[in-house]
Amino acid sequence: MSHELRTPITVLRSYLEALLDGAYEEKNLALQFLQVMDRESDRMARLIQDLLQLSRLDSGYEALNKETVTTAELVNRLAERFALLAFHSNTQFLTEVLENSWIEVDKDRFNQVLDNIVSNSLKYTPKHGIIKVSADYDRSKGTAVFVMTDNGSGIPEQDMPHIFDRFYRVDKARSRQLGGTGLGLSIAQEIIRAHGGDIDISSIAGKGTTVRITLPAKVREDQ
Ligand code: ATP
Ligand code: MG
Repeated sequence: MSHELRTPITVLRSYLEALLDGAYEEKNLALQFLQVMDRESDRMARLIQDLLQLSRLDSGYEALNKETVTTAELVNRLAERFALLAFHSNTQFLTEVLENSWIEVDKDRFNQVLDNIVSNSLKYTPKHGIIKVSADYDRSKGTAVFVMTDNGSGIPEQDMPHIFDRFYRVDKARSRQLGGTGLGLSIAQEIIRAHGGDIDISSIAGKGTTVRITLPAKVREDQ
């Protein structure tokens, strides 16, 4: 963890020193350095925010504000949030609700999980890809099932056992460039477990990735 925090600080300081050493006199170079510093300080702020959230989750201090919502509502809001981003990256973003159900979730936290998974799909799927999100109800288990699939880069088999580890990124340099901290999936797993649910990932390198989330659910609110 200390290494992860030290890196952005080292990057920031090295660019700052270069600016102070004279780079500030060359306008284009200075601008380029400031942009790197802007990106790195953003990343550091996110890293600290993520770490604080993880420690709250670890200690059980992250209180869940649970309310009853339908899976259809969550999927529809997700579609609205990502419509424009998907459009701009020429990606088809398809959602469907096979069978609606009622779940009790902290909406902000649960949306944070869905957003992280869809953002991952967008990050690791080249343009013209397809991302699908579906919600269903499993009658035999009494669970809501969210399935999110992309046809992007996929995750190599040897990386799969570590995918929920903190700071784990398959391609550190690339994820870093995209602003990633490698904490998204570990936070997602903690949040889903805190809701009494499960999250799992399957993936084939070069073909794509599927994330499944299951949560206790009811088919009617009054049940
Ligand atoms: P952050 O979520 O903090 O922005 P991140 O996206 O790099 O950073 P995670 O969401 O925890 O971190 O994902 C961990 C790693 O798993 C990613 O860096 C990436 O290598 C791999 N990964 C996750 N989702 C996908 C996906 N849909 N396709 C390909 N690789 C993925
Ligand atoms: Mg992520």
